[in-house]
Amino acid sequence: MTGQRDQPTRIRRGGGIAPPGGHAFELSGGELCLDFANTLDARPTDTPRELLTDYADLVRWSVQAKIVTPRVARRLKNQAARSHRKAAGALRRARELREAIFDLCSAAARRVPPQGAAVGVLNRHLPGVLEHLRLARDNSDYRWVWEAAGEDALDRMLWPVVRSAAELLTSERLDRVRQCSAEDCDWLFLDLSKNRSRRWCDMTVCGNRSKVRRFRQAQRGS
Ligand SMILES: [Zn+2]
Repeated sequence: MTGQRDQPTRIRRGGGIAPPGGHAFELSGGELCLDFANTLDARPTDTPRELLTDYADLVRWSVQAKIVTPRVARRLKNQAARSHRKAAGALRRARELREAIFDLCSAAARRVPPQGAAVGVLNRHLPGVLEHLRLARDNSDYRWVWEAAGEDALDRMLWPVVRSAAELLTSERLDRVRQCSAEDCDWLFLDLSKNRSRRWCDMTVCGNRSKVRRFRQAQRGS
């Protein structure tokens, strides 16, 4: 999604500027791990745009993706303010994980083998993630929950992301992973269209730009 790359402020769906306190990230991937992979914008260009510029961005993304509550987000930010080193480490691990997820899912979308190291990165995260998984009983139903023992781990938002990636990679949905056809985008998404024909991360942004480009080319041609 590269609607208005020069804009210093965050871009919302359709290219509008996110209002203060409004949704800052575009979650069009249809799968948590794909939305996470899409936090680097304009990836195939000479000037990719990092959307996770600091730890606060990572927390903001997690709140919008609904994997961290606003209350926990406040605690994480306070903790990050007390330990810049730990927060920087969590951000570094987040970006490394994101690139691995992108490599794996982009390769699946393009039907090519993934980069050698990507599965290893995901596997390194797995044991630490799984140790926080618990079963909880709600009325008569069981569900998975995350248990954070003691102090909140600064990278707790990566747990559901890792799980989402591992589940997607081992599911039939992997077949539905696509990469946006815009040459400067590369965002990933799940194509849930009936005839499996979705080409753009967001029709209102990448789809429209392509339509305008084709129209201009046609005009020049005639
Ligand atoms: Zn796109």
